Amino acid sequence: MTPLSVYLPFNLDCLRGEFTPAKRGGSLPAVAGHWLIVRDQKLMVLPEGEGFRLPTGSRPQDPPPGFPGLGPRHWLGTWAGAPCWVAALPKDARVPDGFQAETLVPMQGTKLADDLLTLGGMAMQLLYWESTSGHCPRCGAPTERLEGEWGKRCDGCRYEHYPHLHPAVIVLVRDGDRVLLARKAIWAPGRYALVAGFVDNGESLEGCVAREVKEEVGVDVKDVQYVGSQNWPFPSQIMIGFIASYAGGEIAIDREELEDARWFPRGKLPTGPARHSIAGWIIRNFG
Ligand SMILES: [Zn+2]
Repeated sequence: MTPLSVYLPFNLDCLRGEFTPAKRGGSLPAVAGHWLIVRDQKLMVLPEGEGFRLPTGSRPQDPPPGFPGLGPRHWLGTWAGAPCWVAALPKDARVPDGFQAETLVPMQGTKLADDLLTLGGMAMQLLYWESTSGHCPRCGAPTERLEGEWGKRCDGCRYEHYPHLHPAVIVLVRDGDRVLLARKAIWAPGRYALVAGFVDNGESLEGCVAREVKEEVGVDVKDVQYVGSQNWPFPSQIMIGFIASYAGGEIAIDREELEDARWFPRGKLPTGPARHSIAGWIIRNFG
């Protein structure tokens, strides 16, 4: 059977039905929960075997000991029968003995398994939403949580708003036996990836693909085909993946965005993005 979506970390599907978000209601399981304690894009984990596990509270709603300064607790959802709690740790807080602060960022070489990355990504998104939604964007009055939703309602003007996801396209351009890859100057030497960019007002996804490719690398594309998507919690993108066929033009890069772009023969591709990202998935499957 074809999977419903791409099994990449940060996509909820990669938890394979074992997770139910708290917004869908249901009762809070009265068992000790998993704690997703986040400090500046790092997750507090305990080494176990070859990998890591999440800490567990000693009582149903209590955090694991040893985290002074821990922020308010939020119920993210239920994972395999136990609640997942999310809380932020201040940037300068020390890591308790026995714990490790593991990065959630693929480009920084995360060692976390896909399930912990996915839960950690949702934890970061929840904390980001909490940090940006406490006051009404329209009138500035305090907001309150809508029952059964992540959304907030303003106490003053009754305006309601919900967590924002920002759509961005990412595309592999192909021409027969060669593919077009690009690199930014800040990336590790020799590393190439895909053209990507945010969707503008009034723009279709296909239109955005064509515009971004033209702006960043100067060529025209046709036959734009959707191949998969990935939620990307840095801080709140949905990456929408495409392949497209070269339709003409010479490479001319946008020097403000890119350091280089060039055609590579298929089967002889340079170092690519981390395995965790949809860019890597597209290159592996369609490059
Ligand atoms: Zn308001």
